[in-house]
Amino acid sequence: MTAQLIDGNALSRQLRADVSARVAALKAKGITPGLAVILVGDNPASQVYVRNKVKACEDTGMHSVLERWPATLSENELLARVDALNRDASIHGILVQLPLPAHIDAQKVIEAISPAKDVDGFHIASAGALMTGMPGFWPCTPYGCMKMLESVGYQLKGKHAVVIGRSNIVGKPMALMLLQQNATVTICHSGTRDLKAMTLQADVIVAAVGKRNVLTADMVKPGAVVLDVGMNRNDEGKLCGDVDFDGVKEVAGWISPVPGGVGPMTITMLMVNTLESAERLVA
Ligand code: NAP
Repeated sequence: MTAQLIDGNALSRQLRADVSARVAALKAKGITPGLAVILVGDNPASQVYVRNKVKACEDTGMHSVLERWPATLSENELLARVDALNRDASIHGILVQLPLPAHIDAQKVIEAISPAKDVDGFHIASAGALMTGMPGFWPCTPYGCMKMLESVGYQLKGKHAVVIGRSNIVGKPMALMLLQQNATVTICHSGTRDLKAMTLQADVIVAAVGKRNVLTADMVKPGAVVLDVGMNRNDEGKLCGDVDFDGVKEVAGWISPVPGGVGPMTITMLMVNTLESAERLVA
């Protein structure tokens, strides 16, 4: 293996220790950071995600509320819950776990969250703040990727970054964050004509597609940094990313694994956003 590992578990432990210390300092001032998580329906993956988020709150000393609602909850009822949490002073962050049942307009629900509590960073106000370089919450997954690059001292200025995927929650905000750090950014998607021609030029590649082996060793420039956001299952049912890890690790300079890479960082950045939302009250 030539690549060095970017260990999301180890970095998360470090960052969460810092979060815990800052939570304790806030508590001493009478404020306990609080996160509310709303889960509608019984999607098994969502249940695991919300459990992990609530556990991370407990581990860092934050207050958390988990609201579980049946899939039959109406859109209006959900909007009413969001409204109540917007006005609840003990809650500094609100997260509505996606996907929502088909009869609920997810965007409408996200827009109902107060931007001041939008710790997922999905509100249009948060997206606009990121785009214009104003203060606001950054979506946790790309924010975690930026922390991973920072942790290895990677300087983005003048580098070519290729983001594969253009979703509103990962690909697009990732590209904007890289741009903000003065990288030259290319965004690839399902309509990209020659993905390999793009990735071979990249100093940094972020794969956020949701398909196994989208990035293989022959598509990577020697020494490039590869961050794997994808979460897929291999033939044995084990969690894997978008990157052919075994092949790419022989070519890349740095690589993040799945599991143990971007996944834990996403939850860590949710903790950071929730803490910072509460810290704004005493700033
Ligand atoms: P998404 O909304 O489905 O977006 C996937 C993107 O990949 C789309 O922009 C799509 O292009 C593009 N794409 C599809 N096939 C492609 C191909 N062959 N070549 C190039 N681009 C292609 O997914 P997402 O929400 O961004 O998530 C992406 C992956 O990250 C998923 O596996 C998800 O589970 C994972 N994820 C992980 C975390 C974490 O914490 N680790 C968090 C969020 C997401 P079009 O736009 O043209 O359709």
